[in-house]
Amino acid sequence: MKPYAYPDAAGHFGKYGGNFVSETLSFAIEELKEAYAHYQNDPEFIREFNYELAHFVGRPSPVYHAARMSREMGGAQIYLKREDLNHTGAHKINNTIGQALLAKRMGKPRVIAETGAGQHGVATATICARYGLECVVYMGSVDVKRQSPNVYRMKLLGATVVPVESGSKTLKDALNEAMRDWVANVDNTFYIIGTVAGPHPYPMMVRDFQSIIGKECIEQMPKHLGKAEKQPDAVIACVGGGSNAMGIFHPYIPFENTRLIGVEAAGEGLDSGKHSASIQRGQPGVLHGNRTYVLQDDNGQIIETHSVSAGLDYPGVGPEHAWLADLKRAEYVGITDKEALDAFHYLCRAEGIIAALESSHAVAHAMKMAKTMRTDQSILVNLSGRGDKDIGTVADVSGADFYCRPSCRGESVKGGQVVEFKR
Ligand SMILES: *Cc1c(COP(=O)(O)O)cnc(C)c1O
Repeated sequence: MKPYAYPDAAGHFGKYGGNFVSETLSFAIEELKEAYAHYQNDPEFIREFNYELAHFVGRPSPVYHAARMSREMGGAQIYLKREDLNHTGAHKINNTIGQALLAKRMGKPRVIAETGAGQHGVATATICARYGLECVVYMGSVDVKRQSPNVYRMKLLGATVVPVESGSKTLKDALNEAMRDWVANVDNTFYIIGTVAGPHPYPMMVRDFQSIIGKECIEQMPKHLGKAEKQPDAVIACVGGGSNAMGIFHPYIPFENTRLIGVEAAGEGLDSGKHSASIQRGQPGVLHGNRTYVLQDDNGQIIETHSVSAGLDYPGVGPEHAWLADLKRAEYVGITDKEALDAFHYLCRAEGIIAALESSHAVAHAMKMAKTMRTDQSILVNLSGRGDKDIGTVADVSGADFYCRPSCRGESVKGGQVVEFKR
């Protein structure tokens, strides 16, 4: 493989990415580009970022060998990168710290953000509380309902949560609304985007801040695998906008023997029309300031997406994923709502970990794939967040009759098969 050096100076990942913004925003974008270009190499900025990651977030997050799950699948060894153990419960905080440190240095006292599952909103509200910045979070009103504990958390942290009633009332509409606020308030406001989307430099900048995940894994995996140079055969992560996936993928791009697999939400099935699989079922188009794969109809209208997990419910995807898909350096697959829920329940019972529904998509694919591999091979899964925020959704969908391993009915475990559990 040729050396991988993307994006170019204009923010292009091949034919994706770039900068599609209005006149009013181009000044703010230029200002941000210059600030990031300067501070990303500033030793004091780097020192403060690393200090916060260690002392406020609790990094490095561990890599955990899910030995029981691996044994029950009967194939590859499965390892979990525990981003769920970060302060605020997900990978999102890595990025919000980086951007909030930039906001402080750029003299912007007001921060705005969009949020889907509420995790980015909570991470932003948290860091704004810590640094004494004003915080306004835009959130689709559908998400406000299905993620009410996170809404309350943001309020506790002193943020203003603005429910967005336009469109599908989910993440993409919250993003539109936040962009509108930014246009009106560029002088005093910093927009913290929560994923590797948006106009350049956001996809690159968010990726850089999240790359701490993959960098740590490259140090941690050889210790688990017992050889100084050994890395996993596959790295798997769920893809909404794609930030936890880019964070773990990017440092692994030069490791050609490590397959990179992104898991999109297949909802009720990739051919059901009710999913959020932008790479697998989308077409190139422009969304939220960059060129990428977008779920759209023949007239270029955005199609309403569906996923049981609010954090994956986005009709676009970070432009670097579009490029990695075209380059075939990363592969993209789908996991349905039901498969993700099964994996969610399985991980609770088999390993004592309540994972986010988003992360459960990655776990589900790892479970499928492990069965096809040898026991001396390994899979690293990015467990992007914890599932406490999802227990209401899970209770609604699964009810009292949920899925679990046969052993919870007193039967023997056969190959980790997940069966229906009736009380
Ligand atoms: C937000 C979120 C995601 C999806 O966002 P990406 O940018 O694709 O990472 C995945 N998992 C968790 C736990 C999240 O909070």
